[in-house]
Amino acid sequence: MKVLLTTLNAKYIHLNLAIRLLYSLNKDRHQGLSFKEFTIKESPESIAQFCKDFDIVTFSCYIWNITPTMAVAKLLKEINPEIKILLGGPEVSYEYDDIINKPFVDYIIVGEGEIPMENFLNNYPEVSNVPNLVHKNANNEVVFIPQSVTFDLKNYAGINPYQFDDPAELKNKVCYIETSRGCPYKCEFCLASLDNKVRYLPIETIKSNLLYLINHGRVIKFLDRTFNVKRDFTIDMFSFILEHHKPGNIYQFEITADIVHPDIVKYIRENVPPGVFRFEIGIQTVNQKANLEVSRKQNFDKTAAVIKQLDDIIEMHLDLIVGLPLDEWEDIKFSFESVFALHPSELQLGFLKFLRGTPVRDKHEKYGYEFDPNPPYQIIKSNFLSAYQLEQIVLLEEALEVYWNKKRAVHTLKYVADKYSVFDFLHQLGVYFNSKYDFHHHTLFDVYDALNNFILENYQEDVNLQLLMTIDYQLNYKVKPQQRYLPEIDKSLKSELILNHKLDHHQYRFVIMECNDVCKSYFKNLEENKYLVVQYSGTDKPNYFGVN
Ligand code: SF4
Repeated sequence: MKVLLTTLNAKYIHLNLAIRLLYSLNKDRHQGLSFKEFTIKESPESIAQFCKDFDIVTFSCYIWNITPTMAVAKLLKEINPEIKILLGGPEVSYEYDDIINKPFVDYIIVGEGEIPMENFLNNYPEVSNVPNLVHKNANNEVVFIPQSVTFDLKNYAGINPYQFDDPAELKNKVCYIETSRGCPYKCEFCLASLDNKVRYLPIETIKSNLLYLINHGRVIKFLDRTFNVKRDFTIDMFSFILEHHKPGNIYQFEITADIVHPDIVKYIRENVPPGVFRFEIGIQTVNQKANLEVSRKQNFDKTAAVIKQLDDIIEMHLDLIVGLPLDEWEDIKFSFESVFALHPSELQLGFLKFLRGTPVRDKHEKYGYEFDPNPPYQIIKSNFLSAYQLEQIVLLEEALEVYWNKKRAVHTLKYVADKYSVFDFLHQLGVYFNSKYDFHHHTLFDVYDALNNFILENYQEDVNLQLLMTIDYQLNYKVKPQQRYLPEIDKSLKSELILNHKLDHHQYRFVIMECNDVCKSYFKNLEENKYLVVQYSGTDKPNYFGVN
């Protein structure tokens, strides 16, 4: 029996841990078992052609791949009506009636996959007693016998899910590793809230697999929903990583910041080199009423304090969710500005999604929610935000992405946040950009042209804003760009400064701007200098320094 474990990843660089684990657990008893990954960008026809000669094809289903996965499954069944299609994963584990009733879907595994998959493979085709398997009987009736079974993670002792990958390829991928399953919190918009018992893999296995990824991978992302639940475990893992760390590697963790133990903060400050760890921190909202309404606990003051203590060492990726119950326009503005003030490396503004199985989906009528019935089930409107307001925040989010997260106008936006409302600025900039350019097809020049014109139309009297924008523009080109926006100092003074400071004009090109006190406060190490010099090598991003 030939069985394929497969999935459609969102991007080529992603890897799927689930199919590797299922393969590792079952390969010895089932010689016909294999695994293969595709991406959602590949054509359903080419994926179906690869899969068509298997007896059973199993797909790992998520919110990002369910639509193309269903297209592939339908096509597969048309090409080979004898083939059996089995689906598993979070996107098919809840409200699965419409999915199992599709004529091209034969089986669904609900919930954690290890026990049902092993039973399925061992018993096929007599699978009616397999726990947590949804299937259709001879009369085409849907049958499901739910059983409360939890896989003992000790069974992963000695198993390395990446042992079948070409080690050389792991450097080019995001390598996922789990040390635990479950989350102690109960946020009602999140599927992890349904599994509150935190269970750990055997520590020796975690360490040996982590060591393997440290040696062969580069970007290592921990899937644990709250990595820092246990103080000692967290410090032990951080120490293990630092002991074996290879230069160039990056380690990403999902952290609940307000419970980061002071010992962990101390450990990081004393031991972790800058740029090696990245923390993803879901803040979601600063509005405590909205937090409580979705059963979410968070102390934003503590969260902010921890971020401030660590953000010179750790790259911070902060998330907010737009659309939570009780969060109105002004609340979202307040949350956004409070979080922006922390200057995270990345601020992701997500929109509430009504994931199958989540309590917020079950209760959506209570708050007047309307959401897209298709994945990713994104909010359309609610009692707290109109459809128009949500569209406006989408434009803000696009501007945030271009100007802050892509680091095109970091100094400009820090200044905006100090002097104006950065929420209003990005909103209006998003509206402006959308009316004249295309957020999905634009050049780097468009980015600055839009920002400059927007500033001239709305903040004409603010020379500091124009100066910071001009410098951000100059800092975002590897090769010295055409002089645009505010002018450089005059040519003779520039030549004099280059000569006096022995700047190597054979190897580098320079832009020199006069820097006032406001400008100095947004650039490091310029306090004593009158001029800011941007130095271009032509190959790397430029650097800057001050001269007098
Ligand atoms: S949002 Fe984060 S903290 Fe809340 S349940 Fe989900 S994983 Fe846990």
